[in-house]
Amino acid sequence: MSGLPQANGQRYHFDIYAILEGSQELYFGHEVMINVNMVETVRLVLPNGEGIEKCYLSPTKRRGIERRCLLWAPCSNGKMLGEKLDCHIPKTCTKPECPVCAVYGGLITGKQTLIGRLTHGGGVAIQPLLPEEKQRAMHPSAILNDPNTNSPTPFKRQYNEPGLLYPVYNHCLSVTEDEFQAVAYAFLDSLARIGSGNPKGASLYEVDNAPLLVVDKYLVPHGARPVISPGETSVERALQIFQDKARRVNGGTGNGEHITVNNGNFERWIGWSAHQKLQKWADTFVNRVLKAND
Ligand SMILES: [Zn+2]
Repeated sequence: MSGLPQANGQRYHFDIYAILEGSQELYFGHEVMINVNMVETVRLVLPNGEGIEKCYLSPTKRRGIERRCLLWAPCSNGKMLGEKLDCHIPKTCTKPECPVCAVYGGLITGKQTLIGRLTHGGGVAIQPLLPEEKQRAMHPSAILNDPNTNSPTPFKRQYNEPGLLYPVYNHCLSVTEDEFQAVAYAFLDSLARIGSGNPKGASLYEVDNAPLLVVDKYLVPHGARPVISPGETSVERALQIFQDKARRVNGGTGNGEHITVNNGNFERWIGWSAHQKLQKWADTFVNRVLKAND
């Protein structure tokens, strides 16, 4: 048993596919080597046997940022949503009726688990550009001082270079449209807050003035999934693959930006249509949950 109450209305699967661009250098805290704060990278082997290393916007970090966006969302009663729901990080309320825990899952150690139905994927940068190490004058949270010297220890931090592109994916399993509204809100709201420390922020990457964004709502997965191989190192090829797969829908009819199959068994929105659709869901979430009088 899932432990979830029967849904009020039809459940669907929902997917978001997007290519994000780091608007400036970004820091995703990973581990602290001796006086250097490192960012997370991944290693992979290309089909020709060559080993490469790439920057990584890990799905678990994106998930944490999204959950925080929801818990810190402003409510009309002057509270933040987490305070209103008594749902926090790491102390999640784990109630199936909590709009955050219902999709992101929750855990009360040894007592109660609510399995999340939202999973995050992707995040391996397209360009194989390694992080840059920079001297910083701020105080790191963890620094290894040499107790034998009185002078301040130099502090360095690594950064992901600006302009790196990160294909990212959010997948929802059997959620209602109401439940997905929280995910739409969190996805859009988290863009400006991606990264730890300062600076922060990524944006939806645009080609020909349209964001590389696809949103699917379905019972049967009729569309090609616009996923980029982590081994792909050419931006030009990756963008082409994303756009080709976005438009490849088996048996679909529509205007190019909104495609439906078999009476709504599969629906896909592309580019600005996908963006508008997410905004509409996010607006409904704000009106229904954040502005609720209770
Ligand atoms: Zn909760």
